[in-house]
Amino acid sequence: MLPSDGRFAPSPTGTLHLGNLRTALLAWLFARSQDARFLLRMEDLDTGRVRERFYDEQVRDLGALGLDWDGPVVRQSDRLDRYGDAIETLAARDLVYECWCTRAEIREAASAPHGDLPEGFYPGTCLRLTGAERAARRAEGRPPALRVRAGAASVTFEDEVAGTVTGAVDDFVVRRNDGAYAYNLAVVVDDAAQGIGEVVRGADLLDSTPRQLWLGERLGLPAPRHAHVPLMLGEDGARLAKRHGAVTLADRAALGETPDDVRALLAASVGLSEPGEAVTPAELVARFSPAVLAPRAGAAR
Ligand SMILES: [Zn+2]
Repeated sequence: MLPSDGRFAPSPTGTLHLGNLRTALLAWLFARSQDARFLLRMEDLDTGRVRERFYDEQVRDLGALGLDWDGPVVRQSDRLDRYGDAIETLAARDLVYECWCTRAEIREAASAPHGDLPEGFYPGTCLRLTGAERAARRAEGRPPALRVRAGAASVTFEDEVAGTVTGAVDDFVVRRNDGAYAYNLAVVVDDAAQGIGEVVRGADLLDSTPRQLWLGERLGLPAPRHAHVPLMLGEDGARLAKRHGAVTLADRAALGETPDDVRALLAASVGLSEPGEAVTPAELVARFSPAVLAPRAGAAR
């Protein structure tokens, strides 16, 4: 079994809100409670949305909360060679193909009669192109995306929080038509390269895990364990968002709350402390067990 080294991997596209901070705190607690390494990685491949100021701001907010990490903060944008190598490996194994579909075409095909695909699943249009059709599209000069040839595979894994999860794997994109490497590729390559044994992240990413496990296996990489932790909810029961009001450290500071107060709030929200109880990061490490996140019987996931 891989060591329990963990990571938090935010995208520097905005200010971290309480939900992001709670996921970071939990990822840190999983690792530190097992005396494992904890790494920080910036997932900054979506260059259209990344803003330089958020790198420093996110690092500062995580530090203010009392989290620490091993080694320098890694940026995916510094690691493009590795993703290119992974694409070459997939191509050499005949596991990728070119796709010229627009988003509208994919939506249309998925909603066609007989189109009973799960939402967002690629219907395989470009896999069925003839050699002549493919040559014609290449001649048009519009660059294609690259998709994996997954053949509607199904992957089952044990999640440390969600339990047994089975998910279908469609022909997902590994390199976009603008040349950007896809999240699902980069995360698999990086987690393996960085020796991550336990991926702790928000439950909103649970659906992407079957794809990533499928891809890692095709690339010959060891599979990390997974723990998809519950998302923080607003008072109305919806997933926490900006519209819920004071959701960033800066917002809370404006209300007179220190980062220690916010850490106490986040800890109490998962039952690691009493409401209003001051609690240090070290105390939380001593108290933490993944069992605090076990879904209650009958609770909706
Ligand atoms: Zn296509």
